[in-house]
Formats: sequence, structure tokens, C-alpha cells
Amino acid sequence: MSTLLVDDIGELVTNDGTDGPLGIRRDAALLVEGGRVAWVGSAADAPAADRRIDAGGAAVLPGFVDSHAHLVFAGDRAAEFAARMAGQAYTGGGIRTTVGATRAASDAQLRATVGRLRDEALRQGTTTIEIKSGYGLTVADEARSLRIAAESTTETTFLGAHVVPAEYADRPDDYVELVCGPMVRAAAPYARWIDVFCERGAFDADQARAVLTSGQALGLGVRVHANQLGPGPGVRLGVEAGAASVDHCTHLDDADVDALAGTAGPDGSGTTTVATLLPGAEFSTRSPYPDARRLIDAGVTVALATDCNPGSSYTSSMAFCIALAVREMGMTPAEAVWAATAGGARALRRDDVGRLRVGSRADLVILDAPSHLHLAYRPGVPLIRKVLHDGVPR
Ligand SMILES: [Zn+2]
Repeated sequence: MSTLLVDDIGELVTNDGTDGPLGIRRDAALLVEGGRVAWVGSAADAPAADRRIDAGGAAVLPGFVDSHAHLVFAGDRAAEFAARMAGQAYTGGGIRTTVGATRAASDAQLRATVGRLRDEALRQGTTTIEIKSGYGLTVADEARSLRIAAESTTETTFLGAHVVPAEYADRPDDYVELVCGPMVRAAAPYARWIDVFCERGAFDADQARAVLTSGQALGLGVRVHANQLGPGPGVRLGVEAGAASVDHCTHLDDADVDALAGTAGPDGSGTTTVATLLPGAEFSTRSPYPDARRLIDAGVTVALATDCNPGSSYTSSMAFCIALAVREMGMTPAEAVWAATAGGARALRRDDVGRLRVGSRADLVILDAPSHLHLAYRPGVPLIRKVLHDGVPR
């Protein structure tokens, strides 16, 4: 098997749990073999290899793990964004606009959009991405959304309970019954996870619990859209259901924070429920940001993700989310980088990505910068010089 040495790394972020939260090594090198990290150590001790990439003293990080994205859609909602920036409030109702366009799109159109956004994310350093359905909202359209998503990632999430579609507006419980029966059965073969938008105007606690239970019965893991637009039962419902992650967490009371903190295990495995914060959504809806500092100080495991979707957060840039988290949410640059890599991995209950130690997937980025600090320090600048995905330069 051929070997590849990434040499002359000025700052290597390993997230291996030693030497501070990022496990930083200076003047390091890393050997890749068979798509995995085979060796990590000092550049002076670097072994011979078939090929060599000279990092030129730059920083090398694990590839970003974006654990929350809605990439299967059609249509454009730029005008809605412009209206919001002119003062209109965000309510979540615009999701139905995308549903109409998505149902009308061909498989080829949806596949092209997912591929384009997947490539766009990869160029910006995202090597693992979760993709949700949720703009089909019929049995056939949800199944095909997930079938197409599964061509791009193993982290696929069934979100039939995104919003009640217009044709069920007068009988939402009938829609929940559809989601919990024929729809989840059609979706499950293509999905690893089930998710629900538990929010006023979407699904209440009883409906959300029924949706999650129906997925768990078919072996799907649980994630929840919770407490984005206001306080509510979503976070505690997610914790009770053993969710890998509750996402948004913008409006939390003390009981929500305590519930999340109570799940934190020493190594993030097992039963930890991660709080995944999505600052692109607050940016794009001009809303107050979640309080990451409060969560971290309480011992909650925090991840950052893009929420990439055409309505409320049309960014695929994890670096942008890191910058927002540092500037607006009280996170240190180190905490934000950890949350965008190892934190995202925990939110997907993965231990093979989000860190760089022997045995990890060789998913990494070489920055055009000497340190991870530059991701927040130089916002909006394309700092990803090179990406390795499964050990292959992209
Ligand atoms: Zn979302």
C-alpha cells in the first residue's frame, strides 16, 4: 500500500485529548496509509514515504465535520433573505416554498444541487457532512431525497417532520401518522438518523415524541431541531430520547442546560447528547445567537455546524461558523475549532473522524496560515490550501 507523508507541519491539531483541548503538536509530520493515519510525530523523526506533501510550516487540522445540513432541495429564496434584512421577521413558514420547488424538481436536478454543495463544502475543508431530507414531505419525495443524499454521505437523516405540508394544514395529526408509518418505513433504508422540528408552528412535544419513537423502532438514531425560535420542550425531549444531538439550542432555560450537562460522558461516547449550535441561522435571520459560553461552562459538549439550507442559513462554510462563534457566542478560537471537528464527530457518534491520531480517517486540511487562530482572526478569507479526504488530496 502506498504511503503519503504530510511533512513540515508548523501546528498540528490532533484533538487527541493531550496537551490542551486541541492536542496541538509543533513541528510535526503525519503519515497516511490506506486512507488512515498511520503515524503522527515530530517532523525530525518522520519515516520515509512514497509521496510527500510539504505543509511549509502551516497549520494542519482534522477536516471539518458538518453535522447539520439540508442539501436536498430546489429553488432559491434570496428574495426572502432580502426581505428579512429589510425588517421582516423569520417564522419558518418559508420552508413550504422550498417544498413546492423540491417536489417539482427531477432527480437529476436534486442530485446536481447536492453534488454542487457537497463539493463546495469539501473545498472549504468539510470532509464529513450530514444531509437531511425534509423538503419532500410525501412518502415518495422523502424516500428519493434520502436515496440521493445517501449517494454523497453515510450520515443521512430523515426529516419528514420538518413542517406540516400545506395539504395537511387542517389535520396535522394525520400528517404525523403518515410520517410515523409509511413515510418512515420508506425512508429508513436510506437513513441513519431521524430528526424532528420541535417548535411552536411545527411539531409539539407529543407529536415529536411519536416521530422519534417510530424511527427508533426501525433502528434509526435520534437528533432534534430544538429551541431555535423560542423556549420549548425540544431539548429535554431529545435528552430523554437519548438523542446524539439537539440542534440550535438558542433559547434555553436552566433545566435545559442541566439536562444536557447531565448526559456528558468522559469521552463523549455512549449517551452524551451534544448541543449543536448553528450560528449561520442566527446570522441569516438576524436573531440573537445561542450562548455557547453558558453551555461550555456547565459542562455541555458543544458542536458547530452550518445548517446549510436555502431559507435560513445558506452557507456551507464551517470557517464562517467558527468566526461567528468566537465573535458572537463567547467561544475561544480553540473551543470553536474543536466544536467544528471533534464536536461534530461526537454529534454524529463517530470516533474515526474529527481527530488525527493513529487509526483515524486521513481527513485533514492544510491551512494557508500558521495557526488555527487564523480561522476566526481572518474571517471571510479562503484559508483552506489543501484538503485530504480518505487520504486522497482534493
Ligand atoms: Zn436545520
